[in-house]
Amino acid sequence: MLGNLGKNLTKTMKKLAGMPIIDEEVVKEVVKDIQRALIQSDVNIKLVFKLSKTIEERALKEEPPKGITPREYIITIVYEELVNLVGSKAEEVEVNAKPYKIMFVGLQGSGKTTTIGKLTRYLQKKGFRPAIVSTDTWRPAAYEQLRQLTESMDVPLYGDPENKDALDLAKKGIEQFKKNDIVIVDTAGRHKEEQDLLTEMEQLSSIVNPNEVMLVIDGTIGQQAREQALAFNQATDVGSIVITKLDGSAKGGGALSAVSEIGAPIKFIGTGERIDDFEAFDPERFISRLLG
Ligand code: GDP
Repeated sequence: MLGNLGKNLTKTMKKLAGMPIIDEEVVKEVVKDIQRALIQSDVNIKLVFKLSKTIEERALKEEPPKGITPREYIITIVYEELVNLVGSKAEEVEVNAKPYKIMFVGLQGSGKTTTIGKLTRYLQKKGFRPAIVSTDTWRPAAYEQLRQLTESMDVPLYGDPENKDALDLAKKGIEQFKKNDIVIVDTAGRHKEEQDLLTEMEQLSSIVNPNEVMLVIDGTIGQQAREQALAFNQATDVGSIVITKLDGSAKGGGALSAVSEIGAPIKFIGTGERIDDFEAFDPERFISRLLG
C-alpha cells in the first residue's frame, strides 16, 4: 500500500519502528510530523488540524486488527485519512450519455485550454470522437489556440471569434455536434468582473446542460485555490477536477484544500506543457508528494 509516503513521513515511520508500544506521546509525535509536512505543502491550516485530530483520535482509540502491529496500524490510519481527503481513485471519464458533454471551467492561466487539448487526445486514444466548442469571447486568441492545439488531431472545433455572445456560441456548438460521442465546451476564464464571469458560467451551464463540469485548478497557486473552487462550484456544479502544473516543485496542497471543500474528485493532473503531459489521478502518488 504505502510504497512511498514521502521522505518526511518515512522518517517518522522509522522512528516508530523502534518503539515498543504506541502510546499517546508517540501518536502525537507522528501527528506533528504529518502536520508539518502538510503545512509546508500549502494545505489549508484548518484542514490540517481537522485531519490530525481524526488521525490522533483513531490511533488512540482503535484496536489494530489481529495480525497487524500498532505501528502498521498507524500507517494504515494515516493513509486512509489522507485518501479520504484527496479522494480515492475516480472513474476517469464515464461516458454514459450521447453526446457526453463536458464543460470546462477555470480562471485564465489555470491551464484550461491546454488541458482541453490533453483530454481530447486522451479520449481519442480511448477510441472516442470528441468535438470542441469554444465559447470564450473575452480572449480573442482562445479559439486560435484551440485550433492550433487540435490541428494535428483531426478534432472538429466550433467557434466564431467574431461572435461575442457566449450563450449563442454554446447553443450552436452543441447543436452542431449532437451526433458526436463527446462534446467538450471551453468557457471564458476572465471577465470585466469576477461576478460576471460566474454569472456567465451559470447561464452557460443551463444552456449546455453538461454531464460533467470539470474545474481546472493551477496546482501552484496555493491558498487562493479554495475560494476559486467554491465560487465555480456555486455557479455550476463542479463534478471533477484537474490540477495542472504539478511538474514543477508545487505540491498541490492549495488545490487539495479546494478539492476537500467542494467534494468533487480529482480525475487528472497536468504534468507539463506538452499534449501528453497528462495523467490519471493517483491518490497514493499525490499523497506521497504532499508529505514528501
Ligand atoms: P488558460 O488561460 O486557462 O486556457 O491557460 P492555458 O492553457 O493557455 O495555459 C496557461 C499556461 O500554462 C501556458 O503557458 C501553458 O503552457 C501552461 N500550462 C498548462 N498546463 C500546464 C502544466 O501541466 N504544466 C506546466 N508546466 N505548464 C502548464
